Parts: sequence; structure tokens; C-alpha cells
Amino acid sequence: EVVVRTVNVVKQYGEGEAAVRALNGVTCEIYTGEYLSIMGPSGSGKSTLFNMIGGLDKPNEGSVYVNSVDIAQLTPRELAFLRCHTIGYIFQTFNLITVRTALENVTLPMLFAGLQPDEAEARGMELLTLVGLGHRYHHRPSELSGGQQQRVAIARSLANSPAIILADEPTGNLDLKTGQEIIDLLRQLNSERGVTIISATHDHKMLDVSDRIFHIRDGQLAQVETRAELDAAA
Ligand code: ADP
Ligand code: ADP
Repeated sequence: EVVVRTVNVVKQYGEGEAAVRALNGVTCEIYTGEYLSIMGPSGSGKSTLFNMIGGLDKPNEGSVYVNSVDIAQLTPRELAFLRCHTIGYIFQTFNLITVRTALENVTLPMLFAGLQPDEAEARGMELLTLVGLGHRYHHRPSELSGGQQQRVAIARSLANSPAIILADEPTGNLDLKTGQEIIDLLRQLNSERGVTIISATHDHKMLDVSDRIFHIRDGQLAQVETRAELDAAA
């Protein structure tokens, strides 16, 4: 089953002489329940593709379908719903709200979605416990390590039970061991909850857990590697 499809996606930044073609006709399919890594050199277009798939920015040409719906056709309200309920986002820099506690960061998307505060708090505690941070719920991001902050961000991404988690360099700011723990956590969410994981990454440790790898070069999908091919090459 296809959960995300892109057809001939072109994204250009700037105009005329200064124009940069970040994506140059990307057509791909991402399957429900898979763990997909998007790899490629710096500047190859990974973040741009991430932004297109997540409905955070619009392509100049081509289309992005999430659950068979062309997201360019969504009303602003429907797009906000998609970003709140269908997709959870994780970033290299965690993007937590610094003046809020871990629990408040996790409950915010639920309150935004209309959940009652007591329900949001109960679910927030469950999610923090799931990522191993139940005991740190009252701490602010500055009082947590990088790995702990990323765990809070993962709990937040799960707030409204998304079908898809989009992760942009989730281990990029973490040391090796902490990065591995975050990868293992994402793998666990994928296998136990069936969440589709789409991760843009430089991290070769991701190769071990990925079902497929998209290799991006100069704004194009240069190669798709499957698990079987990765295992055969190992
Ligand atoms: P990656 O994530 O693989 O490092 P990006 O998608 O960030 O690649 O960038 C692809 C290309 O688009 C690069 O040449 C980058 O400089 C350019 N680019 C990305 N974002 C912008 C932007 N907002 N304005 C102008 N150029 C951009
Ligand atoms: P990543 O580490 O994911 O590759 P970058 O460091 O390339 O991300 O980009 C971080 C932010 O800067 C993104 O929002 C991207 O759109 C923007 N950006 C990247 N390249 C450029 C550029 N040449 N001009 C303007 N903005 C850029």
C-alpha cells in the first residue's frame, strides 16, 4: 500500500541567475509501515524533499499525494489537519519550546487538536513514559541532554497518533551512542505501532534498520536500495 507518492516534483529556490533547482523531477512511492531512509550528500535536496512530503512547502511543478490525496488541493484547514494528525515531525535541532516543560511540549499538539487538558496530560505522560522520560516530565529542554530532548520531540511527534513520522537528520546533533538509542526507538515505534518512518539522514547506522534507502543526488532520485539488496551487499 502506498502512503506517500510524489510525481515529477520540481522545487526551485530563487529566480533567474540566482535560481537553485533543489529538486529536479522526483517521482517515488513510499509504502505503509516501511522504514525509509533518504540519503545523499549535503545540498542534494533531502530537506527539500522532506518539506514537500510534509506539506511544509510547495513544489513548483509536480504533485505530492498523501493517502492518495493531492495535498496541493487541500484547503488551509485540511492541510493544518494533515500536519497535526497524519504526520509527526522530528528535526535535527529538536525544535522544542524552550520555556515549556517536556510534558507541555508533548501536550501542546493535543490541545491544538481539541483534546481536554486532563486527557492531553494523561496521554502526554504515557508518551513520555514510552520514550523513557516519564520521570523528567517537569523539566524544560535546557535541563535535558540532547538525546533526552530528541525523545521529547519523538513523544510530541506521536501526540495525535500520526500514520507517518517524518524525521530530518534526527541523530545529526547527537553522539554515536545516543544516536543509536534514538534509531532503536524509531525502529521500535515502526515495528510495534506500524508507524511509517521517513528519515532524511547522513547516518550510516540507519542502513541497518531501513527497509529501503532512497539515494538522492543533485535533486534526483538516483537509486533505490531494498533491504534484500542491502543484506546481499553486507
Ligand atoms: P540537503 O538537505 O540534502 O542538504 P537541501 O534540500 O537543504 O539539501 O538543499 C538543496 C539545495 O537547495 C541546496 O543547493 C541548497 O543550498 C538549496 N536551498 C535549500 N533551501 C533553500 C532556500 N530556502 N533558499 C535557497 N536555496 C535553498
Ligand atoms: P540540512 O542540515 O537538513 O541539510 P540545511 O542546513 O541545508 O539543512 O538548511 C537549513 C535551513 O536553511 C533549511 O530551512 C533550508 O531551507 C535553508 N537553506 C539551505 N540552504 C539555503 C540557501 N542556500 N539559502 C537559503 N536558505 C537555505
